[in-house]
Amino acid sequence: MPSAYSQIVKPELLLQPVYQPGKPIDDVARELGLDPTGILKLASNENPLGASPRAIAAGKAALDQVALYPDGGCYELKRALSEVHGLDPEQFIVGNGSNEVLEIVAHAFLGAGDEAVMGKGAFIVYKLVTLLLGATPVEVPMVDFRHDLPAMAAAVTERAKVVFLPSPDNPSGTAKTAAEIRSFVESLPDHLLFVLDEAYAEYLEDGPDLRDLLLAGRKVFCTRTFSKIYGLAGLRIGYGYGDAELVGLLNRAREPFNANAVAQAAAIAALQDQDFVQQCRLANLAGRRQLEQGFASLDLEYIPSSANFVSAKVGDGVACFQALQKQGVIVRPLAPYGMPAWVRVSIGLPEENERVLASLNSYLNS
Ligand SMILES: *Cc1c(COP(=O)(O)O)cnc(C)c1O
Repeated sequence: MPSAYSQIVKPELLLQPVYQPGKPIDDVARELGLDPTGILKLASNENPLGASPRAIAAGKAALDQVALYPDGGCYELKRALSEVHGLDPEQFIVGNGSNEVLEIVAHAFLGAGDEAVMGKGAFIVYKLVTLLLGATPVEVPMVDFRHDLPAMAAAVTERAKVVFLPSPDNPSGTAKTAAEIRSFVESLPDHLLFVLDEAYAEYLEDGPDLRDLLLAGRKVFCTRTFSKIYGLAGLRIGYGYGDAELVGLLNRAREPFNANAVAQAAAIAALQDQDFVQQCRLANLAGRRQLEQGFASLDLEYIPSSANFVSAKVGDGVACFQALQKQGVIVRPLAPYGMPAWVRVSIGLPEENERVLASLNSYLNS
């Protein structure tokens, strides 16, 4: 930290952990002198099938109008979301990725003296946004890589304003059943907001549906993203839904033009191509089976996943990451999540899964 700023910087910023993203292909190519076209990145849970061609075409067409500011109210996208979810358009807030929506929640509800309850080792953004706003993360240990819902409910104090729960979780890939989530929500006191992060919900066969709870006035808010099954991670667009009063409050903490025009256009077209989504869901199921069976035949412990990635115990996650990187395969070491022995592998196309398994095999037997 340059001392020139130590007098004026907000103290909480110095405590802020640094988010470690999946390593970009170009970085690996530069550092190791590899041809970027031969590098396989399975480190950020991106969609190996890309995006719907209709979404890409809509995004390209929107480029013709980029001199104009986007529709800050996301009128058309909210109408499309409203049809998909059966909720009113004013129950949706759109963000520059769902990451931004989570940060808007923190802006609206968290400050010094407040607490946010979350799983220890859950998706790290909950902790980042909590600390950024000067509030206190209350991290509840997981049991067998699963959120311990009774312990989380017991960790709620008067100061708690938000509870974050991802299902499926990242990086464990574990999911709660709809019944588990509903009874957890019902066990929470009414003074706080329950946030269900549904970034991978489209991969579930039978995901939770909390719409009746939020219509009945429970303080429930769900976030979703176009970065995963919709394959639009590079455009940065996600959303949340809750009751209209909550969404109105969140909108006050939102920048006026936070969702760009290209992303909005692509997202609308992506929502309208549910055949593509279904194709991705089926391909993911097959790829997950392939990876899980591959890990088993390498005698690697893995966490059975409900999402588009699988985490495996490889001994030394960083050493494995580095060795695979030399072979042009990027995976995600999980030390930042308190799992130093593990790596997370995003599910790729069949031949990509084969390649990562072959690389792992040669790493383990070298
Ligand atoms: C990927 C991910 C997100 C979403 O990220 P955005 O790209 O910002 O929409 C949110 N939550 C979890 C658990 C994720 O893994």
